[in-house]
Amino acid sequence: MARINDHYQKLKAGYLFPEIGRRVSQFAKQNPDKKIIRLGIGDVTQPLPLAVIEAMHKAVDDMARKETFYGYGPESGYDFLKEKIQQYDYASRGVRVELDEIFISDGSKCDTGNIQEIFDLGSRIAITDPVYPVYVDTNVMAGRTGQANDKGQYEGLTYLSCGPDDNFVPALPTAGQKMDIIYLCFPNNPTGAVATKEQLSQWVRYAKESDAIILFDAAYEAFISDPAIPHSIYEIEGAREVAIEFRSYSKTAGFTGTRAAFTVVPRELTAANSKGDRVALNPLWNRRHSTKFNGVSYPVQRAAEAVYSDAGRRQVQELIAYYMNNARVIREGLTALGIRHWGGVNAPYVWLQTPNGLDSWAFFDRLLQQANVVGTPGSGFGAAGEGFFRLSAFGDAAQVVEAMERIRKNLS
Ligand SMILES: *Cc1c(COP(=O)(O)O)cnc(C)c1O
Repeated sequence: MARINDHYQKLKAGYLFPEIGRRVSQFAKQNPDKKIIRLGIGDVTQPLPLAVIEAMHKAVDDMARKETFYGYGPESGYDFLKEKIQQYDYASRGVRVELDEIFISDGSKCDTGNIQEIFDLGSRIAITDPVYPVYVDTNVMAGRTGQANDKGQYEGLTYLSCGPDDNFVPALPTAGQKMDIIYLCFPNNPTGAVATKEQLSQWVRYAKESDAIILFDAAYEAFISDPAIPHSIYEIEGAREVAIEFRSYSKTAGFTGTRAAFTVVPRELTAANSKGDRVALNPLWNRRHSTKFNGVSYPVQRAAEAVYSDAGRRQVQELIAYYMNNARVIREGLTALGIRHWGGVNAPYVWLQTPNGLDSWAFFDRLLQQANVVGTPGSGFGAAGEGFFRLSAFGDAAQVVEAMERIRKNLS
């Protein structure tokens, strides 16, 4: 008898976005004359930068000629892209990263989801709450958890909850909470929070002292505007011994439909095997990546390379400025309404506290009905997100202005 992986049935079946979709389409059906503005999903709306398009066109032409055709490439990516990453993402910030520490992939969602495969099933996992759901669900699928309770929290995971008191940067685990793997995401989705150098240093020190590994998701680093905030965890002394870093071109350069990202696994990074011997993680991830992945397509790696050209960097900066102007419009609108909010300065998400103590879904309904604006209920990101709400700055600029105008006029 063929049997399924029972752990899949523990998953709280992708509730958040389907439920948003259901409520929005029901509202649209009942109110066909209303124009709905979506500031909900975390997808970009502006086209790829011109330099990227040009490089991709040229790479397609390379594929059309025998002399310049590319077949299977190196699974971990072409050096022409890794060298740019090494130079512009790391050396420019004083960080040393070797080419064989960089693994080009088709997404940080995939990498943050797949990385747990190289760790023991008994690993004690810490996640922040609220959190990007991928970290949780992939550990559920692997069998590292029990069932979810009625708040959606899985038995066996450690939730490090955060809120206004700590500016959405959770405190370190307590002495009794011995953690092996810690997922951190800064700038954060959904809260827009960033971690200071001091805060990241505390995490690195904690990881060293407790022999834990930090999985650092930096998908939004390009949105940091404050020069004092680290873009990479490797800007912290000693982080190469305790952290894996994930980066993506999805939000930075509009690659959500094009697909390119990378993961850095430093050579110094080790963990114990069952005999207690230290084993380097870089070769393990290399083995996993080369066995189960055949590399990002040549035209897309050329497209990613163009992100680092002079024109590409300028165009990416313009793209980011466009979205961060939306974030400013959202923040100023909320300030004028007296709605408490965070983020939107070093991250493309604004996280607000629902007014009048409404729960996240009640505020969702009110915003939809009174302003015809769609956002994301904070409770969908974890129990600690209840009473909060996420607005995304990835919308069209004119629509964002109109959305905030409608919220100002109509939200009672
Ligand atoms: C969007 C996002 C990513 C990027 O995922 P890709 O698979 O590279 O598109 C990674 N982490 C977080 C938290 C995100 O919100």
